Amino acid sequence: MREPIDLHTHSSVSDGTETPTELVASVIRAGLGTFALTDHDTTDGWDEAFAAARGTGLTVIGGMELSTRVGHASVHLLAYLIDPENLALREETLRIREERLTRAETIVSRLAADFDISWTDVLTQVSDGATVGRPHIADALVARGAAPDRSAAFRDILHPKHGYFVPHYAPDPLYAIRLIREAGGVPVLAHPATRGVDAVVPREHLAQLVDAGLFGLELDHPENKPEGVAVLRGYAEEFGLAVTGSSDYHGVGKPNRLGEHTTPRAVLERIVDEATGTSPFFG
Ligand code: AMP
Ligand code: FE
Ligand code: FE
Ligand code: ZN
Repeated sequence: MREPIDLHTHSSVSDGTETPTELVASVIRAGLGTFALTDHDTTDGWDEAFAAARGTGLTVIGGMELSTRVGHASVHLLAYLIDPENLALREETLRIREERLTRAETIVSRLAADFDISWTDVLTQVSDGATVGRPHIADALVARGAAPDRSAAFRDILHPKHGYFVPHYAPDPLYAIRLIREAGGVPVLAHPATRGVDAVVPREHLAQLVDAGLFGLELDHPENKPEGVAVLRGYAEEFGLAVTGSSDYHGVGKPNRLGEHTTPRAVLERIVDEATGTSPFFG
């Protein structure tokens, strides 16, 4: 497992703009030694990524970014080296993906009242079988000339304050952590400080997540805010949580660059040691 190590990337199997094969090419161009493919609520991109990495010397960590929810707040969990065949996890992710689809249709029907956009426009932006999200709606708005790019669509039209936004079903993080552990995976709380210091997970709640099996916090992430990170570094020490760093690369859909944050090899070695779901792919 060569460094540099980037443990959070997306392909077109969810809301990244590159196929797993193209992503592997970008990872090599960026000079990484190891990366994790962590598409939203699916492991369907793993095999293509492994095939593309074969013979390149890259290590690929099979992962997933699992959607969870606490009240109105969306909480993402990175799940590393899960067994992709685990039934309970498969059923849960299938439900999330199905509900993401109906939720996206609802958002589009709301948008259609004010913009020239149809459900077909959105489906044009989604690869076969991919996990659907707001990024695909953003791309459809861009294609219709309603927004200059994905990020602008997120800042403006798709922002919840405009009333088109609809949340989607997602399980409770406590349940999700248990599900990941039962599938042999290692759960890390993704970008836990993006929303300002008051929105950081309360200490008591974090203690429960740790009891359920949380392994670490993704504290080095382009969208984390320093004040929240400072608080969470204290909790990480107190609870013995690992700290990871990653880019959350989405291709051209987001400004995040591959390898802009990385994870030390020793931390990845602990993840590999704890995981029983599957092994890294050595290409
Ligand atoms: P959703 O989960 O469907 O509500 O959509 C949120 C997702 O959009 C998150 O995973 C973000 O990482 C992703 N996303 C992709 N591109 C962008 C962007 N340019 N700005 C904000 N979020 C983005
Ligand atoms: Fe995403
Ligand atoms: Fe996320
Ligand atoms: Zn992500």
